[in-house]
Amino acid sequence: MTGYPNADAPSPELLQRCVHCGFCLPTCPTYAVLGVEMDSPRGRIRLMETVWQGRVDVTSDPFERHMYGCLDCRACETACPSGVEFGKLMEGARSQIEAARPRSLSERLIRRVAFRALLPRPAVLRAFARFSVLSKRLGAAAALRLIGKRVGVARRLADLLELVPDRASSRALPASYPAHGALRGRVALFTGCVMRAAFADTNAATARVLSRNGFEVIVPERQTCCGALHAHAGERTDARALARRNIASLEALEVDAFIVNAAGCGAALKEYGWLLKDDPAWSARAERFAKRVKDASEFLADAGLSAAPGPLRTRVVYDDPCHLLHGQRIREQPRALLAAIPGLQVMPLGEADWCCGSAGTYNVTQPELSAKLLERKVGHITRSGAEVVVTANPGCQMQIAAGLRAVRAPISVVHLMDLLDRAYRSSGDTGGG
Ligand code: SF4
Ligand code: SF4
Repeated sequence: MTGYPNADAPSPELLQRCVHCGFCLPTCPTYAVLGVEMDSPRGRIRLMETVWQGRVDVTSDPFERHMYGCLDCRACETACPSGVEFGKLMEGARSQIEAARPRSLSERLIRRVAFRALLPRPAVLRAFARFSVLSKRLGAAAALRLIGKRVGVARRLADLLELVPDRASSRALPASYPAHGALRGRVALFTGCVMRAAFADTNAATARVLSRNGFEVIVPERQTCCGALHAHAGERTDARALARRNIASLEALEVDAFIVNAAGCGAALKEYGWLLKDDPAWSARAERFAKRVKDASEFLADAGLSAAPGPLRTRVVYDDPCHLLHGQRIREQPRALLAAIPGLQVMPLGEADWCCGSAGTYNVTQPELSAKLLERKVGHITRSGAEVVVTANPGCQMQIAAGLRAVRAPISVVHLMDLLDRAYRSSGDTGGG
């Protein structure tokens, strides 16, 4: 095969924006670890170009290796002075691999189960999360490690179980949370698939924080997975189907914003316009929908806190989720919210803008490189003197917590909205729900 198989190919117009200056190289985690040009943003862009030129086959092993070796963390986008939208290029490149490259029966089965049977089905995902937590508590990881000395797949399953949080919350949330005090607006909470299955308490905390600040929060029952993991893995047809379902279910709601507390979901929802740009029946609706999506920290910091949080006497560091910082360019708002909590000591964190190695499914598909990046992240955290790591994405939370557990560091990892909620509760304001 020469060239790319379909219209989702990395756009030549976007590729041409790259002037090969190399400013992005020092910010690229995979280039820092591997030191190989083809594992840098510039190298990957060149490779995408060579496929257009017919010099590299889209189904070749090197093309797949360098495209899937990328974290899709988008640090290169922040660094790029030419406005290269690397995330769009990378998702396009991966979609072409999936369209052209034959996959084994087991690979197809794993993808089908993960992307169609698990993520878009809340009940199945909830049961899976509960089963994983229980298996971990019963010591399944140790047993799998023993078997793993002979069977590689058991070792991988043991690694995966280490990522599972010690407890998962999946309780159903009330349909709405009334605003406290004077009504400032009405928002809808996007509850997310993993968030709903394992971090429902964080969703409830987010709703309480918003309601304390004068916003009525509705929790729409009819919503589904945002499709971020599908898009990152090149499954754009499935990602589009999920996007259409979310838009159809939510667009008519009379709300000021759709609030998201998972950075990966927020970045994906804000790019629905791009995802559906070639679909005349949906492109305008997708653009309109995407403009109404706000990260919880972005929305609250921009609106301003109308209720003062209570004090928390804790030392924390803030670790930027890549898809919040690089994917949505949200840097100051979470820090402003932390600064609003009296007594909180916010310590500096080295390489806070550096990927922790979670990166969607990267810790599953590229475990060795992911482990190196996690080790680097854990080193910075343990040297910071913090008691708590604050972040805003479930993947980062699970990955960093697993890294800290592995070195027995007595440092907890919490979502920013949980910390804010805790601060309100410290002043006796329980917020309800
Ligand atoms: S992606 Fe941007 S920063 Fe990197 S080489 Fe190309 S133009 Fe330069
Ligand atoms: S997305 Fe991240 S890992 Fe991939 S090339 Fe850019 S900086 Fe490197």
